[in-house]
Amino acid sequence: MSHPLVGLEVEQRASLREHNSFGLPATARTLVHLRSETDVRRVVDHPVYGVAPKFILGGGSNVVLTRDVDAVVLKVEIAGLRLLEETASRWLVEAGAGESWHDLVAWTVRQGWPGLENLALVPGSVGAAPVQNIGAYGLELKDRFHSLDAVDLVTGRCVTLDAAQCHFGYRDSVFKHQLAGKSVITRVRLALPRPWQPVLGYLDLERRMTETGIEAPDAQTIFDWVCSIRRAKLPDPATIGNAGSFFKNPVVTPEQCRDIIGRDPEIVHYPLPDGSVKLAAGWLIDACGWKGKSVGRAGVYDKQALVLVNRGGASGAEVVTLARAIQESVYGRFGIRLEPEPVIW
Ligand SMILES: Cc1cc2nc3c(=O)[nH]c(=O)nc-3n(C[C@H](O)[C@H](O)[C@H](O)COP(=O)(O)OP(=O)(O)OC[C@H]3O[C@@H](n4cnc5c(N)ncnc54)[C@H](O)[C@@H]3O)c2cc1C
Repeated sequence: MSHPLVGLEVEQRASLREHNSFGLPATARTLVHLRSETDVRRVVDHPVYGVAPKFILGGGSNVVLTRDVDAVVLKVEIAGLRLLEETASRWLVEAGAGESWHDLVAWTVRQGWPGLENLALVPGSVGAAPVQNIGAYGLELKDRFHSLDAVDLVTGRCVTLDAAQCHFGYRDSVFKHQLAGKSVITRVRLALPRPWQPVLGYLDLERRMTETGIEAPDAQTIFDWVCSIRRAKLPDPATIGNAGSFFKNPVVTPEQCRDIIGRDPEIVHYPLPDGSVKLAAGWLIDACGWKGKSVGRAGVYDKQALVLVNRGGASGAEVVTLARAIQESVYGRFGIRLEPEPVIW
């Protein structure tokens, strides 16, 4: 049931199954639709919701719901896409936190403002993109980030944060630490540099260039390539519930990496500029024999061991049990602790 309360749209006992890409069953005792900054302040000023624990939800594509949610679920649905500024050196665009990230990327490319094409088809909302500094195909959000607006859930104050204040790292930001669950991101601004420089260093994109003979693809072509590569590799949450990559790629010291190479010369690894080495978590999981396996109704995707899937009717507990079993076997064989990427609630 949905009814307006002090200007807010609120649902009681709302099913969250449609609101998480794993398709996991869970019910929110209270779900509030946030359509503006004013709605966030209405929640802060509300005698009950203002003091209650809260859970901020975007598109639900990076969460594992293991139980019903007693905290007040704040579903961020703030709309709006606009070009703020066009200069010789950049396009500055702003998007409401509730916009779909992919729609934002498609819109900018269509308008002739390139720069986000490598991040096409990353599911979820604009507001969640800074939370884990989304990244794909050689580009991270931080590479195009200008600033964001957020409303503090205790004071109701709106703040603007630049990249330095967001402390972006690999799938990481201040919103996973000091500000976790404390501020609702309401708007995000992105600076798309001119002249545009394509980001083509990623192996799959290099392969496409060789296959097609296109040496200087434009942004629309890169966008199309990224969409088709992703569709071939990743399960579509509309048909197979999942949250994308389930674990972060672990980063180890060169000594640790040499030790593993000594035992497993095939291991997929990428040296990082600071001397450390990133290991492909999917390779580690595959090496432990998990690809295609299941625990209950949760399983490991047959085409990509890094993706855990809902084989139909899985519970969040089953997904977590599978994830723990994988963590244990990777630790047992390689001595490496895999860290989950989604938020487990
Ligand atoms: C098939 C698939 C492929 C994926 N591929 C990638 C990929 O290539 N790269 C990548 O980085 N990620 C990827 N992901 C993960 C996911 O798309 C991103 O993490 C995305 O940013 C999550 O957006 P969301 O709106 O669904 O966030 P949610 O799942 O709703 O929330 C994620 C976290 O952000 C917080 N949050 C959400 N909105 C706000 C807000 N407005 N203010 C403050 N906090 C907020 C939530 O509280 C939660 O902690 C993939 C997921 C799937 C299902």
